[in-house]
Amino acid sequence: ARKAALSASTGPGATADGHKVPLLANVGGPADVPAAVEAGAEGVGLFRTEFLFLDDSKQAPSEEKQVTAYRQVLEAFPEGRVVVRVLDAGADKPLDFLTPADEPNPALGVRGLRTLLDHPDVLRTQLSALAKAAEDLPVYLEVMAPMVADRADAKAFADACRAAGLRAKFGAMVEIPSAALRARSILQEVEFLSLGTNDLAQYTFAADRQVGAVSRLQDPWQPALLDLVALSAEAAKAEGKSCGVCGEAAADPLLACVLTGLGVTSLSMGSASIPYVRATLAKYTLAQCERAAAAARATDSAEDARAAAQAVLSGE
Ligand code: PEP
Ligand code: MG
Repeated sequence: ARKAALSASTGPGATADGHKVPLLANVGGPADVPAAVEAGAEGVGLFRTEFLFLDDSKQAPSEEKQVTAYRQVLEAFPEGRVVVRVLDAGADKPLDFLTPADEPNPALGVRGLRTLLDHPDVLRTQLSALAKAAEDLPVYLEVMAPMVADRADAKAFADACRAAGLRAKFGAMVEIPSAALRARSILQEVEFLSLGTNDLAQYTFAADRQVGAVSRLQDPWQPALLDLVALSAEAAKAEGKSCGVCGEAAADPLLACVLTGLGVTSLSMGSASIPYVRATLAKYTLAQCERAAAAARATDSAEDARAAAQAVLSGE
């Protein structure tokens, strides 16, 4: 019966009163596209391109190989939206030829955009491959950088995108607390924000996402994390720009309602979660989501935040 109810839930993501929240898929490459289409994803909100780089530990994939892979994903969403994240190497995803071997704290070292700014040739090739892949397609391409810390990072990325002749929107991921705190200044350089709540939780709570012993602090219901989401979404609204979420938080149906209430404009998740998030979001109005978000933020723990949101949404 649960499956039947879910299959009835199709179409664009929206609250009960019709406030649209596009539901997008997280993919690692062309192999993940059929599941995204099947789930009714309205596009891709996070294409983790690092998987293309894992085949060869000595060098980056050729531009041609990248063009082919990017095209396969872009072609699956004609007229849709595809957000491609440039290579996020380092920390939990080291690449021999790019990641320094001797970092005492890899998560705090050269990773994400930092790696690419140290290896401009790798970034240039990737952006050029994306420009070629999208050239004659009607798809709405957006390109974003992981691990943007400040306005200088955002500007360096936007400059590289312009130099590559990319006709796309350029965005910054918010994964470092400094980026959430100064989101408006970052938005002077880029056109959208996307919250990577996995890393944002890791850096907000100084809790390694790979260490199970500190997983309590990785809970995306933590009110401090909700505060940073709210700051980012408010900044984007003030600048007339969008702010999505593409971390695991978006895959929790109840939390998806809270994120919507905080002002997040799209949700991207593993395809399997899309029907559940769509069905739950459709049950509540935007005003209810906003009340649930305020109730969650008024608590002091992840457990209490979840219970408070649940209470508001179930009308207790
Ligand atoms: C995140 O950090 O939330 C994110 C979406 O990126 P990744 O999980 O690939 O680091
Ligand atoms: Mg991340």
